[in-house]
Order: sequence, then structure tokens, then C-alpha cells
Amino acid sequence: MNAPPSPTSPPDVVVLGGGAAGFFAAIAAAEGGARVRLLERGARVLTKVLISGGGRCNVTNAEEKPEKLMRNYPRGGTELRGPFTKFGPRDTRRWFESRGVALKTEEDGRVFPVTDRSQTIVDALTAAAQGANVEVRTGAAVRAIRPDGAGFQLDLNSGESLSAARVLLATGSNPQGHALARALGHTIVPPVPSLFTFTIKDPRLKGLAGVASPRARVKLEGTSLEQAGPVLITHWGLSGPAVLRLSAWGARVMNESGYRGTLRVNWLDQSPEVLQKTFDQKRKTDPRKSLSASPFDIPQRLWDSLRTAAGLPAERRWADLSKPEMSRLGAELGDGAYAVTGKSAFKDEFVTSGGVALEEVDFRTMESRRCPGLYFAGEILDIDGVTGGFNFQNAWTTGCLAGRALARR
Ligand SMILES: Cc1cc2nc3c(=O)[nH]c(=O)nc-3n(C[C@H](O)[C@H](O)[C@H](O)COP(=O)(O)OP(=O)(O)OC[C@H]3O[C@@H](n4cnc5c(N)ncnc54)[C@H](O)[C@@H]3O)c2cc1C
Repeated sequence: MNAPPSPTSPPDVVVLGGGAAGFFAAIAAAEGGARVRLLERGARVLTKVLISGGGRCNVTNAEEKPEKLMRNYPRGGTELRGPFTKFGPRDTRRWFESRGVALKTEEDGRVFPVTDRSQTIVDALTAAAQGANVEVRTGAAVRAIRPDGAGFQLDLNSGESLSAARVLLATGSNPQGHALARALGHTIVPPVPSLFTFTIKDPRLKGLAGVASPRARVKLEGTSLEQAGPVLITHWGLSGPAVLRLSAWGARVMNESGYRGTLRVNWLDQSPEVLQKTFDQKRKTDPRKSLSASPFDIPQRLWDSLRTAAGLPAERRWADLSKPEMSRLGAELGDGAYAVTGKSAFKDEFVTSGGVALEEVDFRTMESRRCPGLYFAGEILDIDGVTGGFNFQNAWTTGCLAGRALARR
């Protein structure tokens, strides 16, 4: 077993950042025989893990095929394909389960600890770091890193200076981490938020907070971006998996537009032809029935609101519908235009797109192509995933690869 670093025996590896990626890398490096010191600027480690997934920590996703997994990353999917074959979601599950963390998979593929408490994940990571003799220091913010021929000198905000043979940057989306990478020769793709909900003030959504359409399709007008899935009406606008995925793929265009634009909502994810067929069917089978009950798989209150927006009273009978009325109803159901005026935070998960440019990193080892001996893992890279456990999987995968490579050196 490796000894912990001491003042007389400096560490082989210094990890900056006590988040998911930093911990995973530090543990893998230490378990591989390296002496590892982890420096965390805050008073506590693993703070994001603790608040993640609404306090439950969506630790990974059930999807295991690299070619399918990669499609959940608006940025970084291609680069992660190879790494996923070396450490993917199945390995993540085994890693935690072998350390006594029982996991469960929910219907939508999200994986959580059975306890539904993120503290379980924090405890497992902390115990593994301790067991591998990783020296964890909190309140230790690094402000400068200088290559010195043999390795690196690190200057802390406190004025202290430390040396390390190799350094791993796992500082997440923190601007100080980006500045450190830039000073060592790296390009930083400008950071912008991803995974947000759309602020929409529209009379059609008024009073419907909590109502969801299980199978909708949302499109960002003027772009080729669209996503299908559940859409949830909130007090501020629209959320739900389809909207969150759209926010991730559209993170950069939405930022450029100042989070304004038009969202096209197809509440049923059905073509105009299929909608017209349903109308025709109703006119044939229930001509004397009124429009009060929804013939579609959407909540009654949403149907009421869309029918009203199409100018159709509940008492109108299917047989009496004119062609223009059917086309108005079809448009409200299948292609409603909603003005987006801003974004709101999604409290269960949030991630920053942008960071260290991916072509400057060797994804076999996570070592910098610009500065030998420097490594990266986690959200500091220009990688971000949609909601569902994919962001932590990036941290585990890149952290593990970096840690293993650091131990080999
Ligand atoms: C509210 C919320 C919920 C989320 N829920 C989920 C979820 O359920 N599932 C999922 O997959 N993803 C989730 N995410 C995203 C996920 O948390 C991140 O992608 C992941 O934590 C990134 O890990 P990281 O280690 O790269 O960065 P971080 O977790 O941000 O860790 C970086 C650490 O580096 C430290 N640091 C920064 N600069 C320095 C410095 N100069 N010196 C020393 N230390 C420094 C920071 O203080 C921080 O502790 C959530 C995010 C948020 C905000």
C-alpha cells in the first residue's frame, strides 16, 4: 500500500478539485500505487454530489452501449466513445456496488442509490479515498501552476507553495481552474449554462403548472434543434425532459439570442395528418358528442386550454366543426408557437457547457497535448451531457482514465 504524502516526501500527483472527477481520479491513481494529494478550495469536498439529483444523486444511466451513450452529450460525445469502453456505466455501478452502495434503476434509465440519499455516494467516495491513502486538504485554492522541468510548482492563495510530479485539473466550471489551464497553454471554449427551463408567459399555460404531456415534441424555431419526450408546464413556463434536452443542445444558440426565441410545441408528437384522421374519426363515430372531453392522450385541462385557444367552445359538436376550425385546433395541438423570454434554473441538475478545448487533450490518458504531466477530468473539459446521470458518468469515466494513467507514470 502506498504511503500518504508528507512534507519530506512530496506527492507524485496533486489533484485540484474535490468534486466527483477529482475524487474518482485521486482514488484510481492512489489505488494504482501513486502518492496523491487532493486540494479543494472550499471548506468541504463533494458539495455538488451532495446537492445533485434533488438530493438523491443520479449517479449514472442504465444505457451502456458507447455508441448510444455518446448521443447524450451535446459536446464531448465523440471523444467519450473510446473512454466509455474502458470505464462505462456498468463499471460505475460495479465500482459503487463493490463498495457497499446498493443502486436502483428507475423506469427512465436513471440510476440512484437505493437509499435515495446522495450522502451515501459522498460516504462511499470519502471512504475509498481514505482507504487508498489520498491526502485531502480543504481550504486550499491553487492560484498558479508553474512547470519547473521535473514537474510543477503550485502556488496556493494562502501563500504556500507545493511541488508535484504531475497535476490533474478537476476544478469543474470554476473560472480559476479555466485561468490555470489557459496559463498552461490551453484554449478555453467560453462557458455558457446548459440544462435550463424556458421562461414563457402565455395565457394558454396559465393555471396549468404541474400539468404534463407525456409525449410531446419541441422545436426551436429558426434552428434544426428539436427534441421529443415529456413536457411539463411550470409556474414560469416549460420544463420536462424534452425541454431540458433542447436547452442542452441549444445551449450556445440560446445564449447568443439572449434566451429569447420561439418554441414550437407539438403537444402530442403527431403529424397534422394523424391529427386530422382523429378529427375525421370523431366526426364519424361521435358526431353528436361535444368537444368537452379530450380525444387525445393529454390531460383534460391542457385540452381545455388548447381548445379554447383555437376559439372552440366545449359545447361545440364534432359534426359541426368547420375546416378552418379543425385546422386551428390542429395547429394548437400540433404546432403551437410560444415566445421564450428567458431561462430558469432546473434545480435537480445543472451543468456548464464550454471549458478546455477537447482536441488539446489525449482521451486515452486525459493528459494535456500542450503541457506534459498535466491531466484533466470532469466538467473543466468542454463536455456536457443531458440530464439523466450522464454528467456524473463523464466525471467517473474521465476521472478513472486520468487516475489510471497517473498511476502508470
Ligand atoms: C444542482 C445540481 C444537481 C446536479 N445533479 C446531477 C445528477 O443528479 N446527475 C448528474 O450526472 N449530474 C448532476 N449534476 C452535474 C454534476 O454535478 C457535475 O457535472 C459534476 O459534479 C462535475 O464534477 P467535477 O468534479 O468535474 O466538478 P465539481 O463537482 O464542480 O468539482 C470541482 C471542485 O473543484 C474545486 N475548485 C475549483 N477551483 C479550484 C482551485 N483553484 N483550487 C482547488 N479547488 C478548486 C471546486 O470548489 C469544486 O469542489 C448536477 C449539478 C448541479 C449544480
